[in-house]
Amino acid sequence: MSETSLAKIAQQLPGYRADALSVPDAQAIIRNSMHPIRDTETLPLKQALNRILTADIISPINVPAHDNAAMDGYAFNGAELKKDGIFMLDVAGTAYAGKPYTGLVNAATCIRIMTGALMPPATDTVIPQELVKTVDTASAQIYFDSHVVRQGDNRRLIGEDLAKGRPALCKGKRLTPADLGLIASLGIEEVSVMRKLKVAYFSTGDELRAIGEPLPEGCVYDSNRYTIYGMLTRLGIEPIDMGIIRDEPELIEAALRNACRQADVVITSGGVSGGDADYTEEMMARLGDVLFWKINMRPGRPMAFGKIASEDKSAWLFGLPGNPVAVMVTFYFFVQHALQQMMGAELKASIAINIPAAAPIRKKPGRTEYQRGIVTTDHTGRQTVRITGSQGSGILSSMSEANCMVVLAHHQSDVAAGELVDVILFDGLV
Ligand code: AMP
Ligand code: MG
Repeated sequence: MSETSLAKIAQQLPGYRADALSVPDAQAIIRNSMHPIRDTETLPLKQALNRILTADIISPINVPAHDNAAMDGYAFNGAELKKDGIFMLDVAGTAYAGKPYTGLVNAATCIRIMTGALMPPATDTVIPQELVKTVDTASAQIYFDSHVVRQGDNRRLIGEDLAKGRPALCKGKRLTPADLGLIASLGIEEVSVMRKLKVAYFSTGDELRAIGEPLPEGCVYDSNRYTIYGMLTRLGIEPIDMGIIRDEPELIEAALRNACRQADVVITSGGVSGGDADYTEEMMARLGDVLFWKINMRPGRPMAFGKIASEDKSAWLFGLPGNPVAVMVTFYFFVQHALQQMMGAELKASIAINIPAAAPIRKKPGRTEYQRGIVTTDHTGRQTVRITGSQGSGILSSMSEANCMVVLAHHQSDVAAGELVDVILFDGLV
C-alpha cells in the first residue's frame, strides 16, 4: 500500500476540497482506486448463479446445431412456392424432435414435422399445421394457399442463437438465470468465476442495541447491520457481521484490525461526523490511508474512504454515516460500484429516466439530493413520481416505501409540479 496514493489521486481533481466534495468527484476517486481481486474458482453451473465470469465463454458448438422446425407443421421445398394459388403436396413421412426423417423429399412431397425436428434434406420451409387442409382424413395429402407462407418461414437456422467459436458471454458478466440456461445450451458443466468478495461490517454507537436486548431510554436498535447485510447478500458478497462496537477508541481500533484481517473491504456506520464521541475517524486515520469527506449531498454528507492495514493484511474501508437512510444511499451510490469493480464485474451506470413530478419538490441548490420517491402509473398509462412523506435521513420507512430515488442535481432548485426529474428505479438491491 502506498501511503500517498489516495491523497495523490484526490489532488489530481481540480478544486479538490475534502470538506465540500461533489458526488461525481468522490465517485471518481473511488473508481480510480479500485482494482479487481485476482482469485478465481471453478464452480458447477448452478452454483455460479449471480457470480462474475472471469473469462469469455466461447461457444464450442452451434446452437441450434442444425436447421430445425420452429413450429408443428409440414416441411417442404419453399422454392416451389413461386407458383401462385393452391398448393398440394403428398405427405411422405414424419420428422420428430430427436428422430429425424432421412428419406428423400421431392417437389411434390412434404414431411410432417414437429417443433425442434431437423429440417429434412431439400426442405427449407414449414407450413404450420393450422394453415393446411387435408384432402380427407385417410389420404396423405395436404393443400394450402401459397400466399400464407414464404420460403424459409418457421425454420430455425443453424447457429442463429449462438455461433460456434464466437463469445457467448463476456468476462465480467454477472450470471443471471438466462445465462445459466445459455451456458447449459452449450453443454458446459463448470464455469470459472471470481471468488466471493468478503466484506466485514460493524455498527458504532453507544446508543445502539442488538435485537433481543432490552432497549433503555435513549437507545435504538441497530438497523444498519441489517440493511448492509441485505445489500451485500444481494450483490453476491460474503458478509462478515462484526456486531456493534461501543464508541471507545480501543474497541474501535480492535474491531477495525480484526475486520481488516478477515475481509477485502470493511464497512462501518456511524461516528464519522466529527461529533464528540466520534472516535472512528481517529482510529481509521491511525490504521491507514483514509480520506475523510464531507460530500455535497443529502442524505449522507460525511463519509470516509481509504485503505487500512493490520499486520501484513490490508483492506479497503468505507466509513459510512450513522443515519439509516444515509447508509443505504451512500452504499447505493458509492460503495456498490466499488464492490462491483473489486468483484471484476462489468460496470453498469445506474440508468436515470425522466418522469414528471406529481407535486412540487423542495430542493436546495448546492448539493445533490437523493429523495425517496414512488413512481405510479395512472389509468391512462401516464407515469408520475411523488416523494415519500418525510425525507429525514433517519426515516428508514421512506426506503421501504419507495420504489425509486429522485436524483436532484447539484445546481437544481425547487421543482414545480409536472417538471421532469431524474429517477433511478430501485433494481432489486435496496
Ligand atoms: P452518528 O453518525 O454516529 O452520529 O449517528 C447518526 C444517527 O444515526 C444517530 O441518531 C444514531 O443513533 C443513528 N445510528 C447510528 N448507527 C445506527 C445504526 N446502526 N442503526 C440505527 N441507527 C443508527
Ligand atoms: Mg454515533
